[in-house]
Amino acid sequence: MTIDGALRDIEEDADFVIVGSGASGATCARWLSAAGCSVVVLEEGAPAKVGKGDGLDAMSRLYRSAGAAMTVGKDRMALLQGRCVGGSTVVAGGIQSGLPEAVWREWVARDARWAQRLPWEALEMARERMDAELSVHKTPRELWGETGAAFFRALPGQASPTWRNTPGCQGSGRCLQGCPHRGKTSADLSLLPQAEQYGARIYARCKVERILMEGHVAKGVRGRFESGKLMTARARKAVILATSPIHTPWLLLQSGLRNVGQGWRCHPRAVLTGLFHKPVHTGPAASLAMESVVHGAADVHLQTLELPRSWAASRVPGLGPALASRLEQMDHIAVWGSSVRAEATGSIRRGPWGPRVHYETLRKDRVLLLKSLAVLAEAMLQAGAMEVWPGIDGAPEVVTSVKQARELALIDPAPGLTQLFATDFFGGVAVDERFQVEGVSGLVVADASLLPTSTGVSPMSTIMAVATIVAERWAAA
Ligand SMILES: Cc1cc2nc3c(=O)[nH]c(=O)nc-3n(C[C@H](O)[C@H](O)[C@H](O)COP(=O)(O)OP(=O)(O)OC[C@H]3O[C@@H](n4cnc5c(N)ncnc54)[C@H](O)[C@@H]3O)c2cc1C
Ligand code: SF4
Repeated sequence: MTIDGALRDIEEDADFVIVGSGASGATCARWLSAAGCSVVVLEEGAPAKVGKGDGLDAMSRLYRSAGAAMTVGKDRMALLQGRCVGGSTVVAGGIQSGLPEAVWREWVARDARWAQRLPWEALEMARERMDAELSVHKTPRELWGETGAAFFRALPGQASPTWRNTPGCQGSGRCLQGCPHRGKTSADLSLLPQAEQYGARIYARCKVERILMEGHVAKGVRGRFESGKLMTARARKAVILATSPIHTPWLLLQSGLRNVGQGWRCHPRAVLTGLFHKPVHTGPAASLAMESVVHGAADVHLQTLELPRSWAASRVPGLGPALASRLEQMDHIAVWGSSVRAEATGSIRRGPWGPRVHYETLRKDRVLLLKSLAVLAEAMLQAGAMEVWPGIDGAPEVVTSVKQARELALIDPAPGLTQLFATDFFGGVAVDERFQVEGVSGLVVADASLLPTSTGVSPMSTIMAVATIVAERWAAA
């Protein structure tokens, strides 16, 4: 049973103290505890209580800052992360995509040591192990939904059903609000209960504020419960940071380390909305049923999205009677998205209320994004949309022809041209051969902060594979 907060100061000691209970932390806890190590997990958020409420309700209970965190820079980019036991896995769409080998080769070309740190065969084996653990499977035809089927028809040979960790999916399209049917093997329902069976102790509502160091050796962490009481957790073998590439660099900076937070990356994402002549939400549909991944020179990831009505409604343009009439047709409205493997890098810095993410896309990233949105708009029209609403500065409010759709690629790619958001984050911490923060013994990074670049595909599968390798190496230490 997860320990939900504390009304007195707590002291703990264990072989491993893991900070963060999301994709990377839960994976480490699962494998380290199964290997016979004692494990304490500290999680800032509360136990995940998934309700049947609307998107705003989920935002306030399961997301960090209710989903309102933004980057600092000229782009308008929201940063979405889970903040609860299970982390972002609770609100993730469930897509599990293996790392493209071309991306791994790029890492090794940048620095040959990646071939030893994360050998390709080890990554593949770890991915297969996690796929089996989480019951990953291809989205079946009956859960494509109308929009998924339309996407599949409109992008022949390019679109394919997603692979997801949703063995009990009933197609209610609510993954981003947390699954009300417990149909998704999010960490709170899979890896963490397994870890607890092996003896791991998981504390919720406990924010780690500082790493305790003796010289250049990490000895434990100091945290604070929501109640104000203190947690002191000492690690006999290592402190494992698994709080995401936004919070891991921040925690290191808070703890007095320097030279961290640089080289941060993400997958900037934008969506298009389309009005179809017939209802497109008529039967069961998985949240992210269909995707199209383009690798090589242009790394682009196109997806269908089943969003809460309140979120989809925020993408509907117009004012007064025009807006009202469109909102009356919500059942005819589909949202499709595109994310790009941006080359821009940013940095994590300390702000007055937590991490500040300084980031701005490069012109070439925005050009790629516009091209991908043009492809998506054309596909939407071919799939039967009467109108596409791009929501891009400089574009018509309503696109109704293929010519107009193609012209989206030619818009001036100025920063801030459309509302961006990101859920996938990478980089910011340099590690040594044992995944320790360079120059600090016993301070291990297990999340995507250690990755040299972005993955180009949905990252959770890679993050879990990397965390599995980190756990295996340290269990054997
Ligand atoms: C809405 C959404 C949809 C997504 N969909 C997909 C998808 O379909 N497929 C995919 O591959 N990826 C998806 N992702 C991305 C994926 O979920 C993340 O890449 C992955 O979960 C990151 O793993 P992590 O362990 O680094 O961080 P998280 O899973 O975010 O977990 C980090 C945890 O650390 C906790 N924490 C942070 N700071 C502290 C602290 N100081 N003390 C204690 N605890 C702390 C946080 O509260 C959080 O619970 C999605 C993400 C979001 C937000
Ligand atoms: S689509 Fe609905 S039923 Fe399926 S996993 Fe997501 S939330 Fe659960």
